[in-house]
Amino acid sequence: MAPNINDAAAKLPAAFNKKLSLASRSVHADDHINKNPDVAPPMHVSTTYRYAANPDDLVPWSEIDESNFWTEQAASHDPFWIYSREKSPTSTRFETILTSLLGAPAVSYASGLAAFHAMMVFLNPRRVAIGGGYHGCHGILKLLNKLNGLQVVELEDEAALAALQKGDVIHVETPLNPYGEARNLAYFRQRADELGCYLTVDATFAPPPLQDPFQFGADIVMHSGTKYFGGHSDMLAGVLAVRPDRASDWLGTLLEERLVLGSVMGSLEGWLGVRSLRTLELRVTRQSETAQKLVDWIAAEKAKEGSVVADVVLEVRHASQQPEAKDENSWLRKQMPRGFGPVFSLVLKSEQHARRLPSKLGLFHHATSLGGVESLIEWRAMSDSSVDRRLVRVSIGVEGFEDLRDDLLQGLQALREELK
Ligand SMILES: *Cc1c(COP(=O)(O)O)cnc(C)c1O
Repeated sequence: MAPNINDAAAKLPAAFNKKLSLASRSVHADDHINKNPDVAPPMHVSTTYRYAANPDDLVPWSEIDESNFWTEQAASHDPFWIYSREKSPTSTRFETILTSLLGAPAVSYASGLAAFHAMMVFLNPRRVAIGGGYHGCHGILKLLNKLNGLQVVELEDEAALAALQKGDVIHVETPLNPYGEARNLAYFRQRADELGCYLTVDATFAPPPLQDPFQFGADIVMHSGTKYFGGHSDMLAGVLAVRPDRASDWLGTLLEERLVLGSVMGSLEGWLGVRSLRTLELRVTRQSETAQKLVDWIAAEKAKEGSVVADVVLEVRHASQQPEAKDENSWLRKQMPRGFGPVFSLVLKSEQHARRLPSKLGLFHHATSLGGVESLIEWRAMSDSSVDRRLVRVSIGVEGFEDLRDDLLQGLQALREELK
């Protein structure tokens, strides 16, 4: 069948055009590169692509300007794909939608850590300031320390931060794993400017529409696409988005380096990712709202003396519980205007409580990770040796609030009985 390029679709705003709402862009941002009549995207599994048939149209690889990759003109460049370690149609489609949703050129990787690694290879700092947060990123920095002596500096220590020099990196994860608490990006941007450093942000815990780190001057925004972009606990992916005014300088090199690192995502993941991004706004908005209702309920119950929550839960940790959340002029409310995210943590009375709570629940799977449609709870000591052993991390899915609340309540009751 001849390609049926829908005229209306072809005229749709290119990736950077923000006229459409986020929800509409998640469904239509890739229409202009859709060269076949399929409504659902096809999955391309080829590793290699035929060059142009006409010898006059042959453009050697080294002469292609990758920095224009995401513009509409480049999308119709023919032949566009060469070898799938460079890029492939299904992952390009995933990146095209993400570019629109993040408001900045987005590059996909095989996993969140592959993206973090690529970001460090690209910026090549001598020092990285980093706080707690996702332990795997610390693992990459340890590898870089082994290779080239890269130094790690404590992000939340003002004096330590002063050791940073031009070209170093301030890496801020916000909201922060495992607590779901936010960090002030405007503040770290200011410090980065004073010190001549790059500001990189791991925004995995608050994807669009919850927060936009570029508004606060991030140079690169990273996501573990495994979490909300995938959203169904069935794909690994990572994403780097580059601040638009840096894209013409940085994008070509990032893509060249990805080709050499070989850390591209697979076709199945690209396809699953496109399927998932269609509902990103619906899912994330609902997940964050439900998490907020649960946190509010837990906090209210905790305040009642003798309640089961008060007896079992020592602390509930979430950005909404930070003092600044109450002040509508605070940095926190500006940074997270659409909600505080679907992940929170509970510190329970004892390690035994944390170890045993997941087994008492019917709707929460006891598993690591987050961002899927299924609610998860994890005794965090299972996968992260650096956190309080009394802590359980909760990732809220798309189930109904009342069902999740009732499940937590009966679980906490059973736990109180058992450990009386
Ligand atoms: C999961 C996660 C990562 C790592 O992502 P993978 O896709 O598992 O490699 C990095 N940062 C944060 C905040 C995460 O939650």
